[in-house]
Amino acid sequence: MKRLFVALIVVGSLAPVRAQEPRAKNVILFLADAVGIPTLNAASRDGYQAPRRLFVQRLPFIGLSDTSTASEWVTDSAAGMTAIVTGVKTHNGVIAQGPDAVRGTKDGAPLKTLMDYAEEHGLSTGIISNDSIAGATPAALYAQSNDRSKYAEIVVQALTVRSGDGLDVLIGAAVNERAAVKKTGADLDVLAAAAGRTLYASLEAVPADARRAFVFTDQSEFNLQRAVDLAITILSRNPKGYFLMVESDAHTDRPEQGLRHLIAFDRIIEGVARRASADTLMLFTADHSFDLRIHDGRNGDRVLAGLDPAAGRANPSLNLPNVRIDNTHTGEEVLVAATGPGASRVHGYLANTDLFRIMLDAWGWK
Ligand SMILES: [Zn+2]
Repeated sequence: MKRLFVALIVVGSLAPVRAQEPRAKNVILFLADAVGIPTLNAASRDGYQAPRRLFVQRLPFIGLSDTSTASEWVTDSAAGMTAIVTGVKTHNGVIAQGPDAVRGTKDGAPLKTLMDYAEEHGLSTGIISNDSIAGATPAALYAQSNDRSKYAEIVVQALTVRSGDGLDVLIGAAVNERAAVKKTGADLDVLAAAAGRTLYASLEAVPADARRAFVFTDQSEFNLQRAVDLAITILSRNPKGYFLMVESDAHTDRPEQGLRHLIAFDRIIEGVARRASADTLMLFTADHSFDLRIHDGRNGDRVLAGLDPAAGRANPSLNLPNVRIDNTHTGEEVLVAATGPGASRVHGYLANTDLFRIMLDAWGWK
């Protein structure tokens, strides 16, 4: 009876690191923004006409992550990503500041992120998003702000060195950011030059021997595969290793685009897994789920049958023969899937803050 009691205590909390666990040299975090478990199922059926066909659905270690914030049941990307990369839950809208922050009015305690830890240990660091560079997901790694909508304040922090020698790779769209900086009377390119950073407008513009690449594009539909290849090539030049976060937006309020992004992202992850060295921890998760449900369908059907391409947006909802979508984040757990050193600790029900610990422990850092 006593033995059973001890076993029950271990279940449901993060498993300790085993003494002989091999260490990770590199950590890659793949963040599928707004991808709930029903969305994974829908993407598999849409892309492969069968369930469980995505690569991330076949990774060896999986768990479920609670996504709630310090105060809210349903998170946004700001609080969700802050929890994953700092190990601290905060409130919606807040970027890498503690729960003493009040959105838009009061700063909270600044939180140290995985990027800071990696930089301090001499690793190279990179961030890629097929959404805005100062969007909440990438921002949570390099910026601290009491409000995710303060684009100008946020993007400028990507150019300044906070730890180590600063961020090495940053790739994403910067349309909103340029406009926000312009409103303050400054110019993003001038600020970057003053900080010793060259901004490239496209992946193709980055020199082949670059050791640093800030690519600020005009649109988010750039070649994500090429961006990931470029980032890994650059970051791998550091013999100490690297940390890379890749975000693919897969909100399914535009269901065709959301599923297409997720299927493409999954193929990219599979390609990286094939090439990655054995000392690379790859971890896939979402910051939160989204209200997409499969409520009907038969083998041979199209998932998005009945979707009018001209008006195909859940605004606020979309009711198709096989799928119903409400344009809102939802509070249920999301998939965590991993492979590589430290991945075995991904199992059972986890807190989103546990993912920070799992990645840090994979490197063997305190
Ligand atoms: Zn999100």
